Amino acid sequence: MKTSDLLALGERYWLPVYRPRALVLERGLGCRVWDTQGREYVDFGAGIAVNALGHCDPDLVAALTEQMHKLWHVSNAFYSEPPLHLAAELVEASGFAERAFLCNSGAEANEAAIKLVRKWAASQGRAPERRVIVSCEGSFHGRTLATVTATAQPKYQAGYEPLPAGFRHVPFNDAAALAAAMDKGDVAAVMLEPVQGEGGVLPAAPGYLARVRALCDRHDALLVLDEIQCGMGRAGTLFAHAQDGIVPDIVTLAKALGGGFPIGALLAGAKVAQVMQFGAHGTTFGGNPLASAVARVALRKLASPDLLDNVARQSQALRAGLEAIGSDLNLFELVRGRGLMLGALLAEGHKGQAAAILDHAAAQGLLILQAGPDVLRFVPPINIGDVDVAEGLTRLRAALVAYRAARAQQA
Ligand SMILES: *Cc1c(COP(=O)(O)O)cnc(C)c1O
Repeated sequence: MKTSDLLALGERYWLPVYRPRALVLERGLGCRVWDTQGREYVDFGAGIAVNALGHCDPDLVAALTEQMHKLWHVSNAFYSEPPLHLAAELVEASGFAERAFLCNSGAEANEAAIKLVRKWAASQGRAPERRVIVSCEGSFHGRTLATVTATAQPKYQAGYEPLPAGFRHVPFNDAAALAAAMDKGDVAAVMLEPVQGEGGVLPAAPGYLARVRALCDRHDALLVLDEIQCGMGRAGTLFAHAQDGIVPDIVTLAKALGGGFPIGALLAGAKVAQVMQFGAHGTTFGGNPLASAVARVALRKLASPDLLDNVARQSQALRAGLEAIGSDLNLFELVRGRGLMLGALLAEGHKGQAAAILDHAAAQGLLILQAGPDVLRFVPPINIGDVDVAEGLTRLRAALVAYRAARAQQA
C-alpha cells in the first residue's frame, strides 16, 4: 500500500488521540529506523525511551523466538518459567524489594502502586480520608483515571471529572511545600519520578529525594518512585534513585523493561510486600511468558557495567553536542537531565516551537521527541555508539538551521 494511503487509514480510523508525524516506520536495526519510502532515520526517541537496546537487538530477538515456539500465555492461574525467573531477578537487582508484581504497562504498574498504598493504609486502620497520595506538579504517571489524577498536569485531566478522591499536588523539588502538604497527618504516600519525563526532563535536585524520604518517615507515609521512564539504566544506574542514596518502598517500571515488548512491574519493599493477599489484585496478561522471556534478557543487558559506562560516556557526548549547537544557534536556554535522558529547553522567542522542530528533524532523518511545547527530549537507545550520536547531532544541527530559516521567513 502507498504511504499516503496508509496515512489516510490513520486519519480515517484511529481515535484521533495522537498526532504522529506523517511517516510510516517499517523496520529498525540498532539506533536506525527506515520508513515505507526507504528513508533512514537516527532514532533519538527510542519509541519514548522504550527501545533501550535499540531495534531488533539479536539477544532479545533470540529470547523472543525461543519462547515463541514454547509457550505464549497461561494466565496467572498457573506458573510458567519466564515470569518466575524475571520476578526473582528484578527483586535481587533492586537491592530493596522483596516481591514483584508483573503487569503490561506503566499505567498499570502505577495503578497497582496506588491500590497497594491504599490497601496498606487500610491495613493500618487509617480511615479513607487519611489515605491521601501526594504527587508533583509536572509529573506524568499514566492515563488510567487514578494515574491521570496522580499526574499533576491539568491538560491530561480536563474533561474526565469526577476524578478519584484522595490526591494532592505539590511543586516538584520543593521540600518545604511537601512538608506543608503532609502537615495534617493524612498522607499515606508520596509518589514521584526521580527524573520527570513528560513534564520537561527535569531531574530531582540534589538532596531532594533524601528530604522526601525523611518526610515520609516522619509521617509514616510510603515513598513510591515512578522509574518507568528514568529507570532501567537510562539515568546512568539501573535504578535512578541509587544516585540519590535513598531506599524507596515501591518502585514502578515499564518502558525499557521489555526492550520494546510491552511489560510493566511493581517492586514492593518490606513494608508492603505482603499487604495484598490472594484476590486483592490481578491481571490476565501480566507476566506473560513472551514479555517475561524478553525482559529477562533486557534486564541482564541493561544492568551490565559496560552498558552503564556507555551511558555516562554518551551522555557527555550528547550533552556537549547539544550545548554546542544551542550556543552556536542561540536556540536553547539550557540542557538538563541525567544519563541518556536529556532535554533542551527552548530559548525565549522559540517557546512553543518543539513540535515544529520535530518536523524539521524528521525531514533531516532524525527522530526526536518533545516534552511539552518548550522542551526537546533526547532518549536514544542506551547502547548507542559514538557514530550514531555524532550523526544524530549533525542532523539535529541541520534541522535547527532549517527551522531558523523557516521561522525567519514567517517573520
Ligand atoms: C510513560 C510513563 C508512564 C505510563 O506508561 P504507559 O506504559 O504509557 O502506561 C508512567 N510514568 C512515567 C514516568 C512514564 O514516563
